[in-house]
Amino acid sequence: MDKNFAVIGLGRFGASVAKTLYEMGYEVMAVDKDPHRVQEFSEIVTYVVEVDSTDEKALRALGINNFDVVVVAIGEDIQSSIMTTLILQEIGVKKVVVKATNDLHGKVLYKIGAEKVVFPERDMGVRVVNHLISPTILDYIELADDYSIIEISAGGSFDGKSLEKIDVRSEFGCNVMAIKSDKQINIAPMAQDVIQKGDVLVVIGHNENLRRFESYNLK
Ligand code: ATP
Repeated sequence: MDKNFAVIGLGRFGASVAKTLYEMGYEVMAVDKDPHRVQEFSEIVTYVVEVDSTDEKALRALGINNFDVVVVAIGEDIQSSIMTTLILQEIGVKKVVVKATNDLHGKVLYKIGAEKVVFPERDMGVRVVNHLISPTILDYIELADDYSIIEISAGGSFDGKSLEKIDVRSEFGCNVMAIKSDKQINIAPMAQDVIQKGDVLVVIGHNENLRRFESYNLK
């Protein structure tokens, strides 16, 4: 289990990552070159340091290689983002997760050895659009190019029917992973479990099949 994290760059994304990790109980060192940002974070994470992450010596002096995961959340200054990622590889940090601003930036980051590249703006755009065009889809996670997990609010066509009756697997080629109703969550739904209108279904499948499942739900 990863236990301690360093977050470099405290813009909106980095700040949110650092704060969430800290609130979840992890040890978080935050790094920013801007003294005002550093000041703002003094009581929000375990500790915060004012360092320019393109300065290899300074990063080494922080003992950055002792962290399980380092998140590079410098977006706008692509050169700094790439240099920082490269330096972290050289220092031997095990897991480097980097925020990319565009596809090309993302490709370069993977080429130089980033373990994971995230595209928060792009992903959020896709999520918002999915929600706009499919009002019953509450949330959406892209797993691979054509596969996703969706959270969908069950409509009238599912009301009072069991998974078996709907025949989710053979009819739609999807899998209902969980059913949330009121305050309960059933994480291992059985064929006989009955869906009520308004339940939230967590469904995994090919995007094409998920679309068919959703249109049936809207009927
Ligand atoms: P967001 O959209 O998440 O707000 P952004 O993509 O606009 O962020 P930037 O504003 O470019 O990202 O950078 C985020 C933070 O990273 C800023 O607080 C900035 O001071 C810091 N930062 C930029 N370059 C460096 C660097 N070389 N070393 C340390 N911190 C840096």
